[in-house]
Amino acid sequence: MTFTDAELRAALRDAHVPALLAALVHFAGSAEHLAGFQPPVADMTSIGDEQGGIPLDQQARARDLAFGLVTRWRDAGCPPLLRPSPEAVRAAMTYVAGSEIPAAYEAFLTDELHLDGLPGASRVTIERAAGDFSVVIVGAGMSGLLMGVACKQAGVPFTTIEARGEVGGTWTANRYPGCRVDTPNHLYSYSFEPAHEWPYRFSTAPVLQGYFARVAEKHGLMPHIRFGTRVESAAWDGEAWQVTLSGGETLRARAVVSAVGQLNRPKMPDLPGVGSFAGPAFHSAEWPEGVDLKAKRVAVIGTGASAFQIVPEIAGEVGSLSIFQRTPPWLLPQPFYHDAVAAGKNWLLEHLPFYANWYRFALFWSLTEFLLPAVAAEDGWEAPGSISPANAELRGFLEMALAAQYEDRPDLLAKLVPAYAPGGKRMLVDNGVWAAALKRPNVELVTEGVAGIEPAGVRLANGRLVEADVLIYATGFHASEFLMPMRVTGEGGADLHDAWGGDARAYLGMTVPGFPNFFMLYGPNTNIVVNGSIVFFSEASVNYIMGCLKLLIDGGRTALSPKRDVHDAFNLKVDSANATMAWGVDGVSSWYKSASGRVAQNWPFSLVEYWNATRAPRAEEFEVR
Ligand code: NAP
Repeated sequence: MTFTDAELRAALRDAHVPALLAALVHFAGSAEHLAGFQPPVADMTSIGDEQGGIPLDQQARARDLAFGLVTRWRDAGCPPLLRPSPEAVRAAMTYVAGSEIPAAYEAFLTDELHLDGLPGASRVTIERAAGDFSVVIVGAGMSGLLMGVACKQAGVPFTTIEARGEVGGTWTANRYPGCRVDTPNHLYSYSFEPAHEWPYRFSTAPVLQGYFARVAEKHGLMPHIRFGTRVESAAWDGEAWQVTLSGGETLRARAVVSAVGQLNRPKMPDLPGVGSFAGPAFHSAEWPEGVDLKAKRVAVIGTGASAFQIVPEIAGEVGSLSIFQRTPPWLLPQPFYHDAVAAGKNWLLEHLPFYANWYRFALFWSLTEFLLPAVAAEDGWEAPGSISPANAELRGFLEMALAAQYEDRPDLLAKLVPAYAPGGKRMLVDNGVWAAALKRPNVELVTEGVAGIEPAGVRLANGRLVEADVLIYATGFHASEFLMPMRVTGEGGADLHDAWGGDARAYLGMTVPGFPNFFMLYGPNTNIVVNGSIVFFSEASVNYIMGCLKLLIDGGRTALSPKRDVHDAFNLKVDSANATMAWGVDGVSSWYKSASGRVAQNWPFSLVEYWNATRAPRAEEFEVR
């Protein structure tokens, strides 16, 4: 490596200091230097300060230490760095985490660090030739592409069916202004494909689509993908799946992996008159290209994650904006939300060995279970608007952050404090642009109930008509209707949707009794509300599904599906745990609940529990032929 002292100095100014100090363990060969630095604080007080409160003089000392060690290494000709001892790695993990790493997390977090090099898309190697074994993957979004890479790496033939004209799933469908990810990008990316060039900490939809397209190209997935085609049905014929496509063609596959996502079918509100509006009216996920909002009277129904991103983007351009709020969302302060990644940080990610590993680790840990205990209910806790002492504390913090933004507008604040406990719905990542939009003179937050839609606008329950030229439905998705409208028939012609009866269930979110060799990614009960990233879940699931394919191919087996008792016991455990989480308690409605009120979407446990459960399938849990 060649770099000048000035380049390194400049890059170090943008360093994430905890990650930098951990990376230096590889240069120093020990973790002794960490004792001289205050560890970062990993609690709510550190929000807005990614250095975790490390004093400025210590940060300067860390940069000087890095400069010395790294230039010495460069001047010695960049010799291979020694692998630090397990104790030194543990000390570095503890330092970055800011607290002792629980024993149960050690293997999990060490695996996540990838100090021995980048992982594959799964840990599974398949020994035998796949023969006639082939897989149909439904969807070329984040999960479907991942499954494709894993099949490719394991030598399993596959075809991916994608309804849209390009890869990227949700990041191609959602093209509304302001659409961006709400999990930091250095974490919301495949572990085996780190991208050091993210322009933003939380990138926009087109940037994400570009990333997924690059991964698809790089791994040679494109020739395997049939674009502009839907899977209409999949039927098990006793040996294989007969997969019927929208053009009428039928593919035979020994396994099917559905990767259609949970939030792929726009939901219009059940209001009288929907469809009668005279002007342009559309759902947030079906944003028409070239729609002109300039100087128009625009109405937005809904204040969930989509509206929260749209409103600040369009508020300055429209003539007037009426936002119809039924339930206010909780907001999680994140001052960096729209920030670009500093050039020096990108340089370090690209050039400084192990810095990227430790930076991703720091992000991973900060999202691991940080808020999970604060959204779990405590028996006997009665205070309104919270479900436990920790939840009440979180509520207090969020209320304070909210109040600070509306000191000048108590009228608005009164409409914006949710009555439900934090965690009941997805918290929205907030850097103040929502408040700034709501305070604009051309913006009105309407909290009176909506009675219906009329050609001229939105009629309120109190009789007032709010006139509009353009109507935007930011009203969410049919999340609990998993896999609709695809028809899936398993053993004995059983229909999957009938089997579910409106409440999708699966073993570990992936497999269903009576539906052999049928797998789901981002399936029932694999969504998370406050911890982790969906990419983590998909990677864990893909690893497990590849393990199942190994049982089939290497084991010379025809079919496997989970045993009924294993599946039922798992779902009982999930249901009772979900019922004690903020999103499962009575009185909160959200896309996390099915029509019956059961939480069919969310994983109520820790990430380490999913990681442990998905390391490898256990043959004894399956009916195997
Ligand atoms: P959502 O969270 O389901 O929000 C829908 C909004 O529409 C809610 O405010 C809801 O009010 C309102 N609404 C629905 N029907 C209504 C009616 N009949 N009258 C009045 N209001 C009505 O949908 P979303 O905002 O599209 O977000 C869905 C999920 O997608 C998010 O939770 C998140 O997981 C994901 N998402 C992520 C991002 C990101 O990360 N960048 C961005 C967008 C979406 P109630 O709350 O009262 O039901």
